[in-house]
Amino acid sequence: MAVPIMQAVRVGSYVVKQHITGRKRYPLVLMLEPLFRCNLACAGCGKIDYPAAILNQRMTVQECLDADAEAGAPVIAVAGGEPLLHKEMPEIIRGLIARKKYVYLCTNALLLEKKMDDYEPSPFFSWDVHLDGDKTMHDASVCQDGVYERAVAAIKKAKARGFRVSINCTVFDGADPQRMANFFDEVMAMGVDGIMTAPGYAYERAPDQAHFLNRQKTKQLFRDVFRLGKGKKWRFTQSPLFLNFLAGNEQYHCTPWGKPLRNVFGWQRPCYLLGEGYAKSFRELMEDTKWDDYGTGNYEKCADCMVHSGYESTAVMDAVRRPWHIAKVALFGPETEKPMAPEISLANQRPAQYVFSKQVEEQMDAIAARKPAKAPRVKVVRTEGANDEAPKAAAPAESTAAD
Ligand code: SF4
Repeated sequence: MAVPIMQAVRVGSYVVKQHITGRKRYPLVLMLEPLFRCNLACAGCGKIDYPAAILNQRMTVQECLDADAEAGAPVIAVAGGEPLLHKEMPEIIRGLIARKKYVYLCTNALLLEKKMDDYEPSPFFSWDVHLDGDKTMHDASVCQDGVYERAVAAIKKAKARGFRVSINCTVFDGADPQRMANFFDEVMAMGVDGIMTAPGYAYERAPDQAHFLNRQKTKQLFRDVFRLGKGKKWRFTQSPLFLNFLAGNEQYHCTPWGKPLRNVFGWQRPCYLLGEGYAKSFRELMEDTKWDDYGTGNYEKCADCMVHSGYESTAVMDAVRRPWHIAKVALFGPETEKPMAPEISLANQRPAQYVFSKQVEEQMDAIAARKPAKAPRVKVVRTEGANDEAPKAAAPAESTAAD
């Protein structure tokens, strides 16, 4: 199975419980970004365009565990940046697994073979390896030759060691459906447990702005791929209704609070993709964010988004409301021939706001304010027999060590 049966049961019962107790908004997957630093610079990435002082920030082990305690989601995805650059990552993962959370550790796999022995196989733990297609497609996507081969070697080694492994495949404009279908065949043959796929979000800071898909192209592309997959045993880690949405069959509205993000800045508003502000606590995020300002039809920056960050939780909640519908899609696969569901109107969306520079300035000021004042120089006069230990500097208030 793409997802262990116990995980499916736990998530299902968690969602049903939220509905029964009448909770309006709740997290399904906690997204953790303990660092922004990466060892790649992908063309479609909008996460790493920060000054070095910000890239050197790390969430501590305790901050990661506290974020879990605040949110209480059954599933946690640890992303970045590249999480394997974080020295305390094994401790973070051990701490989350000890709480019986289902943890996905997202990685580009460049360090996976080297660091694999720091982790233990567990039904609560899965590597989630970034692979945007076959060798040519993926190496072009990450702007470096040889990355696909290293990732595949690491996937095979991880499977041989008994780890669960899924792949995370972001799709861009120009992708060929037949090649995508062949790639899905290829990763299934490698023995991966599941595929997670979505169109790339048009990050305003991504170096390549020319290859993001609009909604119409996304739906057509996924329809074409899923048509080629009929009768094949591709395993997806995502809800069948989310796949049905990608294929243009559901008019879902975004529920960004279903996958809240905690990173080195705080709790990001409104979602994993868009950083329009930060809350100090999970409670503040949930209660004070103007959720109706976001989502396709509400905000210009959300116009083309069909990413799981906003829409997979909608699909999961729909499954609770319409269990017969998910059963049908799970059995027969996403619809690929009938007319698509009507698109959400963009007529009343509010215009984009550009806040990146202001946020960087604020964060740089905060980092400068946290830096310990330099200890005054003390002249040590050596006297015979005296203990001449040098005076100690005050410990920094927060670890900012680069690895
Ligand atoms: S549509 Fe939802 S998930 Fe997508 S960018 Fe907007 S708020 Fe985020």
